[in-house]
Amino acid sequence: MAYSRRDFEQAAESIINIGKILYQRGWTPATSSNFSQRLDEGYCAITVSGRDKGNLTIADIMVVDLEGIPQTPQKPSAETLLHTSLYAWNSSIGAILHTHSLNSNLISCLCRGNRWRLQGYELLKAFAGINTHETVVDFPIFDNTQDIPQLAKQVREYLETGIPCWGYLIRKHGVYTWGRDMAEALRHLEAIEYLMECELELMRLKGVT
Ligand SMILES: [Zn+2]
Repeated sequence: MAYSRRDFEQAAESIINIGKILYQRGWTPATSSNFSQRLDEGYCAITVSGRDKGNLTIADIMVVDLEGIPQTPQKPSAETLLHTSLYAWNSSIGAILHTHSLNSNLISCLCRGNRWRLQGYELLKAFAGINTHETVVDFPIFDNTQDIPQLAKQVREYLETGIPCWGYLIRKHGVYTWGRDMAEALRHLEAIEYLMECELELMRLKGVT
């Protein structure tokens, strides 16, 4: 293994900080959600199953390999494979955030079909590689399931179509997004949440259901 103890401690600190931020925004209720950061080409640090994300300590962060196999004694989250399969898919992904926010649940219920489509918003430029509002961005929506290996496979198949993708929704469950580092993953998550708020408010104002 190439990462050092110091690398793990820095990743854990970054995950603990992000937990505080996202918990305060109300996006990680009731010990839900999970966050991870890549350590090297073969391992990542990830939150342990079922801990209060607003009060994480270093004992709540564990190491898994990119097949989701624990390298430390703690119990991994059931959704660990959704993180590790993304790191294995794209070596430029450095951090992944998954929350159970209210808005991601609502949008995933209200969108008909298997995608949430966004068009024309200035804030689309928050997504890495987008330089103009004159673009269309799709976030795929997958049905919720407890069969995580199957869901990881569906996500991988979507990503391999080559359609640009900055995240995805799981219906009545939450949202996944990622970035080259934790700061970029947070920027993507903030943009997604803001855009969900815009779309939901528009639906309320128009009376659309
Ligand atoms: Zn979840």
